[in-house]
Amino acid sequence: MSIKQTDERYVAHTYKRFDIAIAAGEGSICYDDNGKTYIDMTSGIGVNSFGYADPVWAEAVANQAKLLQHTSNLYYASPCAELAEILCTRTGMDKVFFCNSGAEANECAVKVARAYAAAHKGADYYNIITLNKSFHGRTLTTLAATGQENFHTKFTPLTEGFLYADANDIEGLERLVADNKVAGILIETVQGEGGVNALDKEFVQACERLCRENDLVFMVDEVQTGNGRTGKLYSYMHFGVQPDVVSTAKGLAGGLPMGATLMSERVSGVLGYGDHGSTFGGNPVCAAAAISVMNRMDEAFLADVAAKGRYIKERVEQAGYPVSGLGLMIGIVPKKPVSEVLAACMENGVLCLSAKEKLRLLPPLNIPMDLLEKAVDVIIAALG
Ligand SMILES: *Cc1c(COP(=O)(O)O)cnc(C)c1O
Repeated sequence: MSIKQTDERYVAHTYKRFDIAIAAGEGSICYDDNGKTYIDMTSGIGVNSFGYADPVWAEAVANQAKLLQHTSNLYYASPCAELAEILCTRTGMDKVFFCNSGAEANECAVKVARAYAAAHKGADYYNIITLNKSFHGRTLTTLAATGQENFHTKFTPLTEGFLYADANDIEGLERLVADNKVAGILIETVQGEGGVNALDKEFVQACERLCRENDLVFMVDEVQTGNGRTGKLYSYMHFGVQPDVVSTAKGLAGGLPMGATLMSERVSGVLGYGDHGSTFGGNPVCAAAAISVMNRMDEAFLADVAAKGRYIKERVEQAGYPVSGLGLMIGIVPKKPVSEVLAACMENGVLCLSAKEKLRLLPPLNIPMDLLEKAVDVIIAALG
């Protein structure tokens, strides 16, 4: 059987795959099993921060795998502690809980908000406000947090206690806070799956203000926007706010499964011994990969991400297509169905993503300019 036939026969049909099999990759290029070359504008959905098989990253992973691949969280181990210190130092946060995915990082955020509210206001203050068109994950709680009804059908009842506000509607948000017993507010600064919609700065600041005024937990889901993707280490840094909780995953370990929930000093005390856990959380190989990713994301690198984002935006806007997003998290409004644009790009050797009706680009953060120029040429031609 071919790869496709075996996969179709044995892998659960939850993914509608494109008709290619990726066999190998090198930097921002990958190859299918027929040897066709593609420029990758997907990073495995914002995961491969430094592209495929990056030598620095691969060495960090291989060295740790040869030293110690797993210990369980019964013991201390260096990579996990060192990574937590890096994350806290660079964000001003107090403590980190490590897990393996974005959904789990958000589960932890929800537990922190509920535990904080229960301790400070009472157990009935359990509601969490999220936004319409948000995406927070596929577990039953993070699905409930996801403000898109089409994801909910088939799986009800979901975890209760989620309320949805419209993005950028400050008055609507104020009403929800006033009329309900609320534990916290959870937002993506740029809604990824929802269509690469950056929130207004005033709205993000209003979320923070309402949290301060009402003693709520202000949570930012940086699963997609985090780890340099938007041209800052974390996207909240564009908005002049300081969250109580930041959840992240995708690009954190550059291609290995790792999630993290960062907690400020105000809330970090609510999780005590035994309150939360994860067998694989903080895994030494994943943590070593994440340390290598973090250590390369200095200010010059982040400025370069922002500059590449501006380059794409200018060229695509000049060609006549509206562009949304921040840094190298980009949405483009096509004039024909996005599936046709994706197919034309793929045909011409460029892999792209979609988000709702938009073409979405999440290239490796270190994509070389010559490849980026070529990819943008193909994308503009495919849009036309
Ligand atoms: C991808 C994503 C998630 C879910 O992450 P998983 O690792 O698939 O669980 C959650 N929130 C946002 C904003 C995401 O983009």
